[in-house]
Amino acid sequence: MQLLPRAEATVRAGHPWVFDGSIRSQNRDGEAGELAVAYDRRDRFLAIGLFDPDSPIRLRVLQAGRPAAIDRDWWLARARAAQVRRESLIATGTDGYRCINGDSEGFPGLVADRYADTLVVKLYSTVWLPRWGEVESVLREVFAPRFLVLRLSRNLEQAARAHGLAEGFRGAAGGTVVVFREDGIRFESAVLRGQKTGFFLDQRENRARVGGMSCGREVLNVFSFSGGFSLHAARGGANSVTDLDISAHALEAAERNFRLNEDDPRIASTPREQVQADAFRWLEESQRRFDLVVVDPPSLAKREKERAGALRAYRRLNARAIGLLRPGGMLVAASCSAHVPKHEFHRLVREAAQRSGRRFEEHWTSDHAADHPASFPEAEYLKAICLGFG
Ligand code: SAH
Repeated sequence: MQLLPRAEATVRAGHPWVFDGSIRSQNRDGEAGELAVAYDRRDRFLAIGLFDPDSPIRLRVLQAGRPAAIDRDWWLARARAAQVRRESLIATGTDGYRCINGDSEGFPGLVADRYADTLVVKLYSTVWLPRWGEVESVLREVFAPRFLVLRLSRNLEQAARAHGLAEGFRGAAGGTVVVFREDGIRFESAVLRGQKTGFFLDQRENRARVGGMSCGREVLNVFSFSGGFSLHAARGGANSVTDLDISAHALEAAERNFRLNEDDPRIASTPREQVQADAFRWLEESQRRFDLVVVDPPSLAKREKERAGALRAYRRLNARAIGLLRPGGMLVAASCSAHVPKHEFHRLVREAAQRSGRRFEEHWTSDHAADHPASFPEAEYLKAICLGFG
């Protein structure tokens, strides 16, 4: 295929996506997952990638600049490079982390998360369906999991059936709920049914930061899911932790995670409370006060057109969270909306702080952890900011 000039430049600069509207000509129609080569105006090689007729991202670039034979050895080299990037993590009492982070690591539309001896591979693109046998064998060889679970994004289920693929364990079946450790704290992951691959591994470093800030504080964890931030806060010496989530399932999972760590005296002795409520309403109405509030909502802008509404929601949530802080209190505000850029999010949280009229200072900001690398702007979805208030 030949690309329009603007797309040529972005591909040369290393961007892995070529949209359907950027293709000037194509010598024939391709099948999902077929290798396709892009040439520039002078018919010189630009990039090789996977053809994706089911997405506006028509070519998912694997390698730009020089041609490559995309064979099993190529995938093995990519997977091994990803594994090397995570070696320092494994030394920290953590056996739950992302092994492969999709397009940013040469596996477009595929993530692989490890939970102890179980590898959960989630596919977001049909390009993998005809290639599943090869990629499964590569992942088994590099990551050597005892059990391997295949998960499919909802829009893939039907196409997968045509390839004889369905969600579930491949080969030997392990537990559907897997216990793993994050910085030495035990958590469960519902690898077959849970959101994403069962746990929000992407917040690991922010949870560790919150653990380090919690000593002597009363902590409120808004959108708590399975209690990740709260367990780290409890181990970090919090005076109390309160989980707030709309989902009874999430709160039950948090309760189980606390029980899994009863042998840790700091976690076992921390008073805890659960609130099942809509966070937007509860934050408006509550008279309670806290010393540390974590606000980590689900993605509020899954599409570009939801962006303005998401910005309003983030402003409201964080303004209310600030209102619940005692003097000396801290806010940790996170966003996983890819359509809300990092600087815009940081700015709106700072503005909410200014509007509160209180004295405040900025302690840190954070983005992607080493096991969630983002090699291009659209892949950057996670950001957080921590402010302390007078
Ligand atoms: N902070 C978590 C991940 C949050 S996931 C962690 O570190 O693991 C988002 C959570 O928000 C989900 O558990 C979901 O049940 C909850 N949620 C979604 N909408 C909500 C609402 N309006 N009020 C309260 N909780 C909500």
